[in-house]
Amino acid sequence: MRIIAMDQEPALCFHQISEDLLQFIEESPTAFHAVASCAKLLQEHGYQRLAECAHWELQKGGRYFVTRNGSSIVAFRVPQVNYSGYRLFCSHTDSPTFKVKEEPELEADQKYTKLNVEKYGGMLMAPWFDRPLSLAGRVQIAVSDGIEQRLIRIDRDLLLIPSLAIHMNREANDGFHYNAQTDLCPVFGDKLAKGTFRSLIAHEAGVEEGQILGMDLFLYNRQRGTFLGGAEEFIGSPRLDDLQCLYGSLRGFLDADENGGNGFPVFCGFDNEETGSVSRQGAGSTFLRDILMRVNAALGRTEEEYHRLVAGSFLISADNAHAVHPNHPEKADPVNRPQMNHGIVIKYNANQKYTTDAKSAAVLQVLMSRADIPYQIFTNRSDMAGGSTLGNISNTQVSLQAVDIGLPQLAMHSPYEMAGVKDTAYLVRLAQAFYSADMEVTDEVIRI
Ligand code: ZN
Repeated sequence: MRIIAMDQEPALCFHQISEDLLQFIEESPTAFHAVASCAKLLQEHGYQRLAECAHWELQKGGRYFVTRNGSSIVAFRVPQVNYSGYRLFCSHTDSPTFKVKEEPELEADQKYTKLNVEKYGGMLMAPWFDRPLSLAGRVQIAVSDGIEQRLIRIDRDLLLIPSLAIHMNREANDGFHYNAQTDLCPVFGDKLAKGTFRSLIAHEAGVEEGQILGMDLFLYNRQRGTFLGGAEEFIGSPRLDDLQCLYGSLRGFLDADENGGNGFPVFCGFDNEETGSVSRQGAGSTFLRDILMRVNAALGRTEEEYHRLVAGSFLISADNAHAVHPNHPEKADPVNRPQMNHGIVIKYNANQKYTTDAKSAAVLQVLMSRADIPYQIFTNRSDMAGGSTLGNISNTQVSLQAVDIGLPQLAMHSPYEMAGVKDTAYLVRLAQAFYSADMEVTDEVIRI
Protein backbone atom coordinates (compact mmCIF):
# COMPACT_ATOMS: atom_id res chain seq x y z
CA MET A 1 0.00 0.00 0.00
CA ARG A 2 1.26 3.42 -0.90
CA ILE A 3 0.86 6.02 1.80
CA ILE A 4 -0.59 9.21 0.38
CA ALA A 5 -0.22 12.22 2.61
CA MET A 6 -3.46 14.10 3.03
CA ASP A 7 -1.73 17.42 2.37
CA GLN A 8 -0.76 16.20 -1.09
CA GLU A 9 -2.36 17.79 -4.13
CA PRO A 10 -6.07 16.93 -3.53
CA ALA A 11 -6.98 15.60 -7.00
CA LEU A 12 -4.02 13.22 -6.90
CA CYS A 13 -4.87 12.15 -3.37
CA PHE A 14 -8.53 11.46 -4.27
CA HIS A 15 -7.63 9.50 -7.37
CA GLN A 16 -4.88 7.48 -5.70
CA ILE A 17 -7.00 6.47 -2.71
CA SER A 18 -9.82 5.46 -5.04
CA GLU A 19 -7.41 3.34 -7.08
CA ASP A 20 -6.17 1.68 -3.89
CA LEU A 21 -9.79 1.11 -2.81
CA LEU A 22 -10.70 -0.53 -6.12
CA GLN A 23 -7.69 -2.82 -5.86
CA PHE A 24 -8.67 -3.75 -2.27
CA ILE A 25 -12.21 -4.57 -3.45
CA GLU A 26 -10.88 -6.59 -6.40
CA GLU A 27 -8.90 -8.75 -3.96
CA SER A 28 -11.89 -9.11 -1.62
CA PRO A 29 -14.70 -10.99 -3.41
CA THR A 30 -16.14 -12.39 -0.12
CA ALA A 31 -16.10 -11.47 3.58
CA PHE A 32 -13.37 -14.11 4.10
CA HIS A 33 -11.20 -12.43 1.49
CA ALA A 34 -11.99 -8.95 2.85
CA VAL A 35 -10.71 -10.01 6.27
CA ALA A 36 -7.63 -11.60 4.65
CA SER A 37 -7.01 -8.31 2.79
CA CYS A 38 -7.29 -6.36 6.08
CA ALA A 39 -4.99 -8.84 7.85
CA LYS A 40 -2.39 -8.48 5.08
CA LEU A 41 -2.37 -4.68 5.41
CA LEU A 42 -2.23 -4.91 9.20
CA GLN A 43 0.70 -7.35 9.11
CA GLU A 44 2.54 -5.08 6.67
CA HIS A 45 2.20 -2.39 9.35
CA GLY A 46 3.59 -4.56 12.14
CA TYR A 47 0.32 -5.92 13.57
CA GLN A 48 0.48 -9.35 15.14
CA ARG A 49 -2.33 -11.91 14.89
CA LEU A 50 -3.79 -13.15 18.18
CA ALA A 51 -5.80 -16.38 18.34
CA GLU A 52 -8.96 -16.28 20.46
CA CYS A 53 -8.09 -19.70 21.94
CA ALA A 54 -4.53 -18.64 22.99
CA HIS A 55 -3.29 -16.80 26.08
CA TRP A 56 -2.59 -13.12 25.32
CA GLU A 57 0.50 -11.27 26.54
CA LEU A 58 0.05 -7.66 25.47
CA GLN A 59 2.71 -4.95 25.51
CA LYS A 60 2.37 -1.19 25.72
CA GLY A 61 2.77 0.11 22.19
CA GLY A 62 1.89 -3.37 20.85
CA ARG A 63 -0.17 -3.78 17.68
CA TYR A 64 -2.58 -6.70 17.40
CA PHE A 65 -5.55 -8.10 15.53
CA VAL A 66 -8.01 -10.94 16.06
CA THR A 67 -10.33 -12.67 13.60
CA ARG A 68 -13.39 -14.81 14.24
CA ASN A 69 -14.61 -17.28 11.60
CA GLY A 70 -12.08 -15.67 9.25
CA SER A 71 -14.84 -13.23 8.28
CA SER A 72 -14.85 -10.64 11.13
CA ILE A 73 -11.81 -8.77 12.37
CA VAL A 74 -10.86 -6.46 15.26
CA ALA A 75 -7.50 -4.67 15.33
CA PHE A 76 -6.12 -2.49 18.12
CA ARG A 77 -2.95 -0.90 19.38
CA VAL A 78 -2.12 -0.53 23.04
CA PRO A 79 -1.29 3.09 23.89
CA GLN A 80 2.02 3.93 25.51
CA VAL A 81 0.29 6.22 27.98
CA ASN A 82 -2.91 6.11 29.98
CA TYR A 83 -6.16 6.22 28.03
CA SER A 84 -9.68 7.37 28.85
CA GLY A 85 -11.80 5.14 26.60
CA TYR A 86 -11.97 3.08 23.44
CA ARG A 87 -12.16 4.79 20.06
CA LEU A 88 -13.97 2.36 17.77
CA PHE A 89 -14.57 2.59 14.03
CA CYS A 90 -16.83 -0.24 12.77
CA SER A 91 -18.02 -1.28 9.33
CA HIS A 92 -18.98 -4.57 7.67
CA THR A 93 -17.13 -7.10 5.54
CA ASP A 94 -20.03 -8.79 3.73
CA SER A 95 -22.16 -7.77 0.74
CA PRO A 96 -25.39 -9.18 -0.71
CA THR A 97 -24.76 -12.07 -3.10
CA PHE A 98 -25.78 -15.67 -3.78
CA LYS A 99 -24.44 -18.62 -1.81
CA VAL A 100 -23.91 -21.94 -3.55
CA LYS A 101 -25.99 -24.71 -1.92
CA GLU A 102 -24.71 -28.12 -0.99
CA GLU A 103 -24.59 -30.58 -3.94
CA PRO A 104 -25.34 -27.66 -6.25
CA GLU A 105 -25.48 -29.25 -9.70
CA LEU A 106 -28.91 -29.11 -11.35
CA GLU A 107 -29.71 -30.56 -14.74
CA ALA A 108 -31.90 -28.55 -17.15
CA ASP A 109 -33.68 -30.13 -20.10
CA GLN A 110 -30.95 -32.79 -20.31
CA LYS A 111 -28.81 -30.12 -22.02
CA TYR A 112 -27.42 -27.87 -19.31
CA THR A 113 -25.85 -28.00 -15.87
CA LYS A 114 -26.90 -25.16 -13.56
CA LEU A 115 -25.90 -24.31 -10.00
CA ASN A 116 -28.41 -24.27 -7.17
CA VAL A 117 -27.94 -21.03 -5.24
CA GLU A 118 -29.76 -19.09 -2.52
CA LYS A 119 -29.87 -15.40 -1.65
CA TYR A 120 -27.46 -13.98 0.91
CA GLY A 121 -28.81 -10.62 2.10
CA GLY A 122 -31.25 -8.30 0.38
CA MET A 123 -29.93 -7.71 -3.10
CA LEU A 124 -31.27 -6.14 -6.27
CA MET A 125 -31.67 -9.28 -8.38
CA ALA A 126 -32.08 -7.85 -11.91
CA PRO A 127 -28.46 -6.65 -12.34
CA TRP A 128 -27.12 -10.14 -11.60
CA PHE A 129 -28.39 -11.33 -14.99
CA ASP A 130 -26.32 -11.46 -18.20
CA ARG A 131 -22.88 -10.71 -16.80
CA PRO A 132 -19.85 -12.91 -16.23
CA LEU A 133 -19.75 -14.27 -12.68
CA SER A 134 -17.43 -16.54 -10.82
CA LEU A 135 -17.03 -18.29 -7.46
CA ALA A 136 -15.07 -17.47 -4.32
CA GLY A 137 -15.14 -18.52 -0.70
CA ARG A 138 -13.77 -21.03 1.76
CA VAL A 139 -13.25 -24.78 1.42
CA GLN A 140 -12.72 -27.35 4.20
CA ILE A 141 -10.03 -29.89 3.33
CA ALA A 142 -9.40 -33.31 4.92
CA VAL A 143 -5.71 -33.72 5.81
CA SER A 144 -3.88 -36.51 7.65
CA ASP A 145 -4.28 -34.97 11.10
CA GLY A 146 -7.66 -33.29 10.71
CA ILE A 147 -9.24 -30.48 8.69
CA GLU A 148 -7.69 -27.43 7.08
CA GLN A 149 -9.48 -24.54 5.46
CA ARG A 150 -8.44 -22.72 2.34
CA LEU A 151 -9.72 -19.59 0.61
CA ILE A 152 -10.34 -19.92 -3.08
CA ARG A 153 -11.18 -17.44 -5.80
CA ILE A 154 -11.72 -18.74 -9.32
CA ASP A 155 -10.12 -15.94 -11.31
CA ARG A 156 -11.91 -16.37 -14.62
CA ASP A 157 -15.33 -15.82 -16.15
CA LEU A 158 -17.20 -18.98 -15.19
CA LEU A 159 -20.94 -18.50 -14.84
CA LEU A 160 -23.83 -16.50 -16.27
CA ILE A 161 -27.50 -16.11 -15.27
CA PRO A 162 -29.25 -15.65 -18.62
CA SER A 163 -32.35 -13.45 -18.94
CA LEU A 164 -35.44 -14.81 -20.58
CA ALA A 165 -35.62 -13.23 -24.06
CA ILE A 166 -38.09 -10.39 -24.59
CA HIS A 167 -39.83 -12.58 -27.19
CA MET A 168 -40.71 -15.09 -24.47
CA ASN A 169 -41.89 -12.48 -21.98
CA ARG A 170 -43.24 -9.37 -23.70
CA GLU A 171 -44.04 -7.81 -20.32
CA ALA A 172 -40.45 -8.08 -19.06
CA ASN A 173 -39.91 -4.31 -19.25
CA ASP A 174 -43.07 -3.62 -17.27
CA GLY A 175 -41.72 -5.27 -14.14
CA PHE A 176 -40.65 -8.83 -13.50
CA HIS A 177 -41.17 -10.88 -10.39
CA TYR A 178 -37.99 -12.87 -9.82
CA ASN A 179 -38.26 -16.29 -8.26
CA ALA A 180 -34.99 -16.96 -6.46
CA GLN A 181 -35.27 -20.73 -6.95
CA THR A 182 -36.17 -20.84 -10.62
CA ASP A 183 -34.88 -17.62 -12.23
CA LEU A 184 -31.47 -17.07 -10.62
CA CYS A 185 -29.61 -20.34 -11.20
CA PRO A 186 -26.38 -19.62 -13.10
CA VAL A 187 -25.42 -21.82 -16.04
CA PHE A 188 -22.33 -23.85 -15.16
CA GLY A 189 -21.94 -25.78 -18.42
CA ASP A 190 -23.55 -28.14 -20.87
CA LYS A 191 -24.77 -31.57 -19.80
CA LEU A 192 -21.21 -32.89 -19.88
CA ALA A 193 -20.34 -30.50 -17.05
CA LYS A 194 -22.52 -32.50 -14.67
CA GLY A 195 -20.36 -34.14 -12.04
CA THR A 196 -17.39 -31.78 -12.54
CA PHE A 197 -18.21 -29.07 -9.98
CA ARG A 198 -16.37 -30.64 -7.05
CA SER A 199 -13.35 -31.49 -9.18
CA LEU A 200 -13.18 -27.86 -10.37
CA ILE A 201 -13.21 -26.65 -6.76
CA ALA A 202 -10.65 -29.30 -5.74
CA HIS A 203 -8.38 -28.24 -8.59
CA GLU A 204 -8.67 -24.59 -7.52
CA ALA A 205 -7.87 -25.53 -3.91
CA GLY A 206 -4.94 -27.70 -5.03
CA VAL A 207 -6.31 -30.90 -3.44
CA GLU A 208 -7.97 -34.17 -4.44
CA GLU A 209 -11.74 -34.15 -4.88
CA GLY A 210 -12.17 -36.66 -2.06
CA GLN A 211 -10.48 -34.28 0.38
CA ILE A 212 -13.23 -31.67 0.16
CA LEU A 213 -15.43 -31.83 3.25
CA GLY A 214 -17.37 -28.59 2.91
CA MET A 215 -17.67 -25.35 0.98
CA ASP A 216 -18.84 -21.81 1.75
CA LEU A 217 -18.87 -20.51 -1.81
CA PHE A 218 -20.48 -17.35 -3.16
CA LEU A 219 -21.06 -15.81 -6.57
CA TYR A 220 -19.07 -12.67 -7.35
CA ASN A 221 -19.30 -10.17 -10.17
CA ARG A 222 -16.32 -10.34 -12.50
CA GLN A 223 -16.60 -6.71 -13.62
CA ARG A 224 -13.73 -4.72 -12.14
CA GLY A 225 -13.99 -1.33 -10.46
CA THR A 226 -13.40 1.70 -12.69
CA PHE A 227 -13.55 5.50 -12.89
CA LEU A 228 -16.66 7.07 -14.43
CA GLY A 229 -17.96 10.50 -15.36
CA GLY A 230 -16.80 13.33 -17.65
CA ALA A 231 -14.03 14.27 -15.24
CA GLU A 232 -13.64 10.80 -13.71
CA GLU A 233 -15.43 12.12 -10.66
CA PHE A 234 -17.16 8.83 -9.86
CA ILE A 235 -16.19 5.22 -9.31
CA GLY A 236 -18.16 2.11 -10.23
CA SER A 237 -17.41 -1.16 -8.46
CA PRO A 238 -18.88 -4.24 -6.83
CA ARG A 239 -19.20 -4.24 -3.02
CA LEU A 240 -18.73 -0.51 -2.36
CA ASP A 241 -21.27 -1.17 0.42
CA ASP A 242 -19.44 -1.62 2.68
CA LEU A 243 -15.85 -2.22 1.59
CA GLN A 244 -15.49 1.49 0.87
CA CYS A 245 -15.99 2.20 4.60
CA LEU A 246 -13.98 -0.87 5.65
CA TYR A 247 -10.99 0.17 3.57
CA GLY A 248 -11.23 3.90 4.37
CA SER A 249 -11.46 3.33 8.11
CA LEU A 250 -8.60 0.81 8.08
CA ARG A 251 -6.43 3.18 6.10
CA GLY A 252 -7.18 5.97 8.58
CA PHE A 253 -6.50 3.62 11.51
CA LEU A 254 -3.09 2.72 10.06
CA ASP A 255 -2.20 6.29 9.11
CA ALA A 256 -3.29 7.94 12.39
CA ASP A 257 -0.67 9.55 14.60
CA GLU A 258 0.17 6.80 17.11
CA ASN A 259 1.20 9.27 19.75
CA GLY A 260 -1.84 11.47 19.27
CA GLY A 261 -5.04 11.34 21.27
CA ASN A 262 -5.97 9.87 24.62
CA GLY A 263 -8.02 6.93 23.35
CA PHE A 264 -7.44 3.21 22.85
CA PRO A 265 -7.75 2.81 19.04
CA VAL A 266 -9.85 -0.11 17.78
CA PHE A 267 -10.78 -0.96 14.19
CA CYS A 268 -13.64 -3.44 13.53
CA GLY A 269 -14.99 -5.20 10.46
CA PHE A 270 -18.03 -7.41 11.10
CA ASP A 271 -19.52 -10.12 8.91
CA ASN A 272 -23.23 -10.83 8.45
CA GLU A 273 -24.50 -7.25 8.58
CA GLU A 274 -26.52 -8.00 5.45
CA THR A 275 -28.43 -10.76 7.23
CA GLY A 276 -29.03 -8.88 10.50
CA SER A 277 -25.68 -9.25 12.35
CA VAL A 278 -26.92 -12.17 14.46
CA SER A 279 -24.21 -14.82 14.14
CA ARG A 280 -21.14 -16.02 16.04
CA GLN A 281 -19.03 -13.31 14.40
CA GLY A 282 -21.54 -10.54 13.62
CA ALA A 283 -21.93 -7.18 15.36
CA GLY A 284 -24.66 -8.78 17.49
CA SER A 285 -22.24 -11.43 18.78
CA THR A 286 -19.94 -11.28 21.80
CA PHE A 287 -16.85 -10.89 19.55
CA LEU A 288 -16.10 -7.23 20.27
CA ARG A 289 -17.02 -7.46 23.97
CA ASP A 290 -14.91 -10.58 24.43
CA ILE A 291 -11.88 -8.87 22.92
CA LEU A 292 -12.25 -5.62 24.88
CA MET A 293 -12.69 -7.51 28.16
CA ARG A 294 -9.72 -9.77 27.46
CA VAL A 295 -7.51 -6.84 26.49
CA ASN A 296 -8.54 -5.08 29.68
CA ALA A 297 -7.67 -8.12 31.81
CA ALA A 298 -4.41 -8.79 29.93
CA LEU A 299 -3.33 -5.22 30.72
CA GLY A 300 -3.97 -5.79 34.41
CA ARG A 301 -7.13 -3.75 34.72
CA THR A 302 -10.20 -4.65 36.77
CA GLU A 303 -13.74 -5.23 35.53
CA GLU A 304 -14.78 -1.95 37.13
CA GLU A 305 -12.08 -0.21 35.10
CA TYR A 306 -13.45 -1.89 31.95
CA HIS A 307 -16.92 -0.49 32.58
CA ARG A 308 -15.48 2.96 33.25
CA LEU A 309 -13.55 2.80 29.98
CA VAL A 310 -16.64 1.76 28.01
CA ALA A 311 -18.58 4.64 29.55
CA GLY A 312 -15.81 6.96 28.35
CA SER A 313 -15.73 5.51 24.82
CA PHE A 314 -17.01 6.56 21.43
CA LEU A 315 -18.04 4.47 18.40
CA ILE A 316 -18.31 5.50 14.76
CA SER A 317 -20.45 3.02 12.82
CA ALA A 318 -19.73 3.43 9.10
CA ASP A 319 -22.00 1.96 6.44
CA ASN A 320 -22.74 3.49 3.09
CA ALA A 321 -25.61 5.94 2.61
CA HIS A 322 -27.99 6.72 -0.24
CA ALA A 323 -27.14 9.70 -2.43
CA VAL A 324 -30.09 11.43 -4.14
CA HIS A 325 -30.88 9.38 -7.25
CA PRO A 326 -30.68 11.41 -10.48
CA ASN A 327 -33.73 9.67 -11.97
CA HIS A 328 -35.70 9.51 -8.72
CA PRO A 329 -34.96 12.63 -6.67
CA GLU A 330 -38.48 12.33 -5.19
CA LYS A 331 -37.32 9.30 -3.15
CA ALA A 332 -35.08 11.44 -0.92
CA ASP A 333 -36.05 13.47 2.11
CA PRO A 334 -37.16 16.98 1.04
CA VAL A 335 -34.33 18.69 2.93
CA ASN A 336 -31.52 16.24 3.70
CA ARG A 337 -30.25 15.18 0.29
CA PRO A 338 -26.73 13.66 0.19
CA GLN A 339 -24.65 13.95 -2.97
CA MET A 340 -21.63 11.94 -4.04
CA ASN A 341 -18.33 13.80 -3.59
CA HIS A 342 -19.90 16.11 -1.00
CA GLY A 343 -18.50 14.36 2.02
CA ILE A 344 -19.34 12.15 4.96
CA VAL A 345 -23.03 11.47 5.55
CA ILE A 346 -24.32 11.58 9.13
CA LYS A 347 -27.36 9.27 9.34
CA TYR A 348 -30.35 9.92 11.59
CA ASN A 349 -33.39 7.78 12.38
CA ALA A 350 -35.92 8.45 15.14
CA ASN A 351 -36.61 4.73 15.58
CA GLN A 352 -33.00 3.91 16.48
CA LYS A 353 -32.05 2.22 13.21
CA TYR A 354 -29.10 4.57 13.55
CA THR A 355 -27.34 5.49 16.78
CA THR A 356 -26.88 9.16 15.92
CA ASP A 357 -28.35 11.73 18.25
CA ALA A 358 -27.68 15.43 18.61
CA LYS A 359 -24.88 14.75 21.09
CA SER A 360 -22.95 12.21 19.00
CA ALA A 361 -23.53 14.21 15.81
CA ALA A 362 -22.07 17.26 17.56
CA VAL A 363 -18.86 15.30 18.23
CA LEU A 364 -18.60 14.37 14.57
CA GLN A 365 -19.20 17.94 13.46
CA VAL A 366 -16.40 19.21 15.70
CA LEU A 367 -14.01 16.51 14.43
CA MET A 368 -14.87 17.15 10.78
CA SER A 369 -14.80 20.94 11.02
CA ARG A 370 -11.32 20.83 12.59
CA ALA A 371 -10.06 18.40 9.92
CA ASP A 372 -11.71 20.40 7.12
CA ILE A 373 -13.92 17.48 6.05
CA PRO A 374 -17.23 18.27 4.33
CA TYR A 375 -20.31 16.50 5.69
CA GLN A 376 -24.00 16.17 4.94
CA ILE A 377 -27.13 14.64 6.47
CA PHE A 378 -29.26 11.61 5.62
CA THR A 379 -32.71 10.82 6.89
CA ASN A 380 -35.31 8.65 5.19
CA ARG A 381 -38.45 10.19 3.82
CA SER A 382 -40.93 9.92 6.68
CA ASP A 383 -43.12 7.60 4.60
CA MET A 384 -40.27 5.13 3.87
CA ALA A 385 -38.87 2.55 6.25
CA GLY A 386 -35.27 2.65 4.96
CA GLY A 387 -32.43 0.38 6.04
CA SER A 388 -30.54 -0.36 9.21
CA THR A 389 -26.94 -1.14 10.12
CA LEU A 390 -24.65 -2.49 12.79
CA GLY A 391 -24.11 0.42 15.22
CA ASN A 392 -27.23 -0.09 17.32
CA ILE A 393 -26.76 -3.90 17.19
CA SER A 394 -23.16 -3.64 18.38
CA ASN A 395 -24.46 -1.40 21.16
CA THR A 396 -26.47 -4.30 22.57
CA GLN A 397 -23.14 -5.99 23.42
CA VAL A 398 -20.89 -2.99 24.15
CA SER A 399 -23.04 0.03 24.97
CA LEU A 400 -21.37 3.35 24.34
CA GLN A 401 -21.85 6.76 22.77
CA ALA A 402 -22.12 6.24 19.02
CA VAL A 403 -22.85 7.89 15.70
CA ASP A 404 -23.83 6.38 12.36
CA ILE A 405 -22.24 7.66 9.21
CA GLY A 406 -21.69 6.50 5.65
CA LEU A 407 -20.39 7.51 2.25
CA PRO A 408 -22.93 8.58 -0.36
CA GLN A 409 -23.57 6.07 -3.16
CA LEU A 410 -26.07 4.98 -5.79
CA ALA A 411 -27.35 1.50 -6.75
CA MET A 412 -26.90 0.14 -3.22
CA HIS A 413 -27.08 -3.68 -3.08
CA SER A 414 -26.64 -4.02 -6.82
CA PRO A 415 -23.64 -6.19 -7.82
CA TYR A 416 -22.18 -3.01 -9.32
CA GLU A 417 -22.52 0.23 -7.36
CA MET A 418 -21.50 3.87 -7.85
CA ALA A 419 -19.81 6.37 -5.51
CA GLY A 420 -17.80 9.59 -5.51
CA VAL A 421 -14.07 9.69 -6.14
CA LYS A 422 -13.48 12.09 -3.22
CA ASP A 423 -15.45 10.52 -0.40
CA THR A 424 -13.11 7.64 0.52
CA ALA A 425 -10.36 10.19 1.19
CA TYR A 426 -12.72 12.13 3.47
CA LEU A 427 -13.36 8.95 5.46
CA VAL A 428 -9.63 8.24 5.76
CA ARG A 429 -9.14 11.77 7.04
CA LEU A 430 -12.02 11.41 9.53
CA ALA A 431 -10.59 8.14 10.88
CA GLN A 432 -7.17 9.74 11.28
CA ALA A 433 -8.70 12.72 13.11
CA PHE A 434 -10.87 10.48 15.31
CA TYR A 435 -8.07 8.15 16.40
CA SER A 436 -5.76 11.12 17.05
CA ALA A 437 -8.27 13.18 19.06
CA ASP A 438 -8.22 13.97 22.74
CA MET A 439 -11.70 13.25 24.04
CA GLU A 440 -13.31 13.07 27.43
CA VAL A 441 -16.72 11.38 27.27
CA THR A 442 -19.23 11.38 30.11
CA ASP A 443 -23.00 11.13 30.15
CA GLU A 444 -23.32 14.86 30.66
CA VAL A 445 -20.57 16.36 28.51
CA ILE A 446 -18.02 15.53 25.87
CA ARG A 447 -14.76 17.49 25.81
CA ILE A 448 -12.85 17.33 22.59
ZN1 ZN B 1 -23.90 -1.78 4.28
